[in-house]
Amino acid sequence: MSFSTLGLSAPILKAVADLAYTEPTAIQKQAIPVVLAGKDLIATAQTGTGKTASFVLPMLELLNTERKLRGKRIRALILTPTRELAVQVESSISQYGKYLELSSMAMYGGVDAAPHKQRLIWGVDIIVATPGRLLDMAHQRALHFDELEVLVLDEADRMLDMGFIDDINKIIERLPKERQNLLFSATISDNVRSLAKRAINDPVEISIAQNSASKPKIEQWLITTDKGNKSALLSHLITEQQWQQALIFIETKHGAAKLVSQLEKRGIKAESIHGGRTQAVREQILSDFKSGKIKFLVATGIAARGLDIGDLARVVNYDLPDQVDDYIHRIGRTGRAGASGEAVSFVSKDNFRELCAIESRLGHVIVRKEIDGFTVKKVVPVSILNYVPKHKKSKR
Ligand code: AMP
Repeated sequence: MSFSTLGLSAPILKAVADLAYTEPTAIQKQAIPVVLAGKDLIATAQTGTGKTASFVLPMLELLNTERKLRGKRIRALILTPTRELAVQVESSISQYGKYLELSSMAMYGGVDAAPHKQRLIWGVDIIVATPGRLLDMAHQRALHFDELEVLVLDEADRMLDMGFIDDINKIIERLPKERQNLLFSATISDNVRSLAKRAINDPVEISIAQNSASKPKIEQWLITTDKGNKSALLSHLITEQQWQQALIFIETKHGAAKLVSQLEKRGIKAESIHGGRTQAVREQILSDFKSGKIKFLVATGIAARGLDIGDLARVVNYDLPDQVDDYIHRIGRTGRAGASGEAVSFVSKDNFRELCAIESRLGHVIVRKEIDGFTVKKVVPVSILNYVPKHKKSKR
């Protein structure tokens, strides 16, 4: 099946061809006709499935009319959990829409709002924004929603995890009742369902199954280790297995700084990205990592949310996340759109609950590998599948 059968017009097909996409992914095949038909949509799809194009392409098609945009008005709003994802989605819009006349802008907190306001004066067709900054701008009357046609909630589960529910509700209250709504989420929890109930009308539901053709090829494995041994183990793997690049997830920003210096002592140059670094520094580091200038990037879970790193070969869970969804999202950073990837987790005995929860969700245990010279004192028991957590530990 080719893109040309989906009902997209020539300028959009040409932009897609420029990117050398040969065939739509599973989510694109299913979502594009639904969106083009003007229907509301709830799609369960993870990052890496091509979900961005699945809503951006038909949205561009629908917005590509003669309509004249008035000052401070926007026609489509895409809400994202992080600034990084906002930037990434906006750059996809620019790529897919490069032969169209539509305007777009990413808008997020932590940076000077003046340039955003300036651009809004003449109106912008598509805004990709994090909820807080968007609401701020609305309060300041820098933009009005009365001409909004489409709302997209991207990575809805992650927005809720990050505590954006109140902001999202306040935004939805301000939108015109007549609009098209699209919701994308890696998982559909009860909270996502209740958000969907408020925001979405009679939606078509699409779920991209784990084992569909678009499933990224990710080899997952783990190493059981004692807590104090992790940095030595990581250095050993980087050197012995000649890793070229890795995104390493860690729990705290303090831990991130410490790990960078521990790696440096062993002759491995790494950088860290965490909430304590300014937006400008984070962007520079990320761009150096993408270009390959930085080979090893240590990131806290929060800082890494929404990052799109095209052909990343490997992610490392230096610390196992305490939420299963985080694990799924993290491994989704690798093995994108056909490329193969590897996800390695370091698991110590006190991670046993988290490990069981992750493996229960995956429906299989993760292959355990042993590394010579790294015997474990506190053995991690054999996993229990179908594990139901009694109560949630809060480590955040
Ligand atoms: P996403 O799931 O939206 O984050 O997309 C993941 C990656 O897949 C991005 O780097 C896209 O450029 C790429 N991609 C999206 N659609 C296609 C396609 N039909 N063929 C090949 N690559 C694609």
